[in-house]
Amino acid sequence: MNQLEIIDMVKGKGFKITPQRRAIIEALFFFEKPPTAKEVLEIVRKKHPEISLDTVYRNLNLLAEIDCLIQINLKNSETSRFEIIKNHHHHLICLGCGEAVCLESCILDRHMGVLREKGYQIVGHAFEIYGYCPACRTAG
Ligand SMILES: [Zn+2]
Ligand SMILES: [Zn+2]
Ligand SMILES: [Zn+2]
Repeated sequence: MNQLEIIDMVKGKGFKITPQRRAIIEALFFFEKPPTAKEVLEIVRKKHPEISLDTVYRNLNLLAEIDCLIQINLKNSETSRFEIIKNHHHHLICLGCGEAVCLESCILDRHMGVLREKGYQIVGHAFEIYGYCPACRTAG
C-alpha cells in the first residue's frame, strides 16, 4: 500500500483526513522497518509539535482496524510496531530482543469454514507466535 491508497481507504471508510492524520500516514513511510508509535510521534512532532502520543496511537489503531496496518507485538503495546500491509500475514516475535519475522501465509485460512459454522460473521482476526530467535537462543 502506498500513501495515496491508505488515504483513499481512510476516506472510503468515512473518516476525515486531518493534517495530523495525513502527517502520521506520511511518517509511516520514513522507516525501513515497521516503527513504534513513539518513533512515528518523533517524526510527526517536527511538523505538529502539539500532537500527543495518544493521538498517534489512536490513529495507528484506526489504520490497523481498517486493514492498512498490521500491529506487531500485541502483547506489549509499548513496543508494538506498525507495519504497512502488503498482504495479510502474521508474525513470529522474539521475546528476547523483540525482533519480528513475517510469516508469509495465514495459518487460519483453512479453518475459516469451521469458524463460520459457529454462526459468526467473521470480520477479522489477529494472532502472533512468541518465542526466541536464534541469536537470543544462543545468548541464553
Ligand atoms: Zn531475539
Ligand atoms: Zn510483517
Ligand atoms: Zn490470518
